[in-house]
Amino acid sequence: MVRSCTKCIYDDNVPGITYDEKGVCNYCRQHEQLEAEYPTGDAGMKKLREMAALIKRSGKGKKYDCVIGISGGCDSSYLLHLAKKELGLRPLAAHFDNTWNSKTAVENIDIMLSKLDIDLWTYVMDNDEWNDLAKSMLKASVPEIDALSDIALTTTLYMAAAKFNVKYILNGHSFRTEGITPINWFYFDGKYIASIQKEFGTRKIDKYPNLWLGRWMKWLVMDIKRLRPLYYMDYRKEDVKAFLSKEYGWKWYGGHHLENRYTAFNHYLLDAKFKRDLRYVEFSALIRSGQMTRAEAIEEIKKPQPFPGELITEVKKRLGMGDAEYDAIMKLPLRSAKDYKTYRPTFKAMRGFFWLMYKTNRIPKSFYIKYCF
Ligand SMILES: [Zn+2]
Repeated sequence: MVRSCTKCIYDDNVPGITYDEKGVCNYCRQHEQLEAEYPTGDAGMKKLREMAALIKRSGKGKKYDCVIGISGGCDSSYLLHLAKKELGLRPLAAHFDNTWNSKTAVENIDIMLSKLDIDLWTYVMDNDEWNDLAKSMLKASVPEIDALSDIALTTTLYMAAAKFNVKYILNGHSFRTEGITPINWFYFDGKYIASIQKEFGTRKIDKYPNLWLGRWMKWLVMDIKRLRPLYYMDYRKEDVKAFLSKEYGWKWYGGHHLENRYTAFNHYLLDAKFKRDLRYVEFSALIRSGQMTRAEAIEEIKKPQPFPGELITEVKKRLGMGDAEYDAIMKLPLRSAKDYKTYRPTFKAMRGFFWLMYKTNRIPKSFYIKYCF
């Protein structure tokens, strides 16, 4: 018998799950704590206005007062609207182009930026180097192939902020829709990527914007802060999608985080090889924030995920892999960050420094808790 949470759809298969006397899981309780910490409605709006006032003050006399990462997805598109139209900020949009963007994503980026009259700073990745790194992550047989995009985007945002002397980076994350990833599912850091590339790659990291600890510390000391404004909103995905379509002509790309072909492949790989269906995370979040019922989620999760059939063919072609090599990679024993060198021991040793960074809004609390212990 697999026991399941009485509120969300997390069950015994989720690492680190515990249940209280009402049968509610620890992840649901974590969500409640976040809700208490980040109020919405009038109280949330007040927090957002205070945040905007600080950002405006820091940007006096500068061309931009904040940097916003944009993917063409729903959250970052909405964040641009919120920042400029609702809060009166002067954002610079920054984009990391891993050359796997979907056509819809590119159109969404164009449409949002032109209608809001926001400048864009893009870091375009060298295609061959990206493919070599992507192949190394696959050969390493770890579940974090998307760490490549995530780390590179973070670095890109810092680079843009440092270049234009901007002190605030705004992030479109909302725990109300993204959810809380089970403990030990994923681990991301710059050294992790570097050690995997050293072992499996055919070239050195050159153009890839890695988040090396040295440069990251330099940006932290420069007092560049990362904030998550959507935490203060009752962020409802369906309403936001409808709003963006109506107001801007923005288009839905047909699946959570499927705006990028490589990210779409990541979802497929996690499901097929690692038996991790990311919809559990998303649906559970939507249940906790009242945007989906548990019964709806149970029905929906039974349906196979809508992976475009040509995706695997495209990945093989772009990464220059034959069927035999690809099949061998899919059959490799599963490995994790524990099998490779990472910054984790360093992060733990520097716990005091990161505590200070968290307390001064320079890193998210989740980083401090997850990486420094
Ligand atoms: Zn739960």
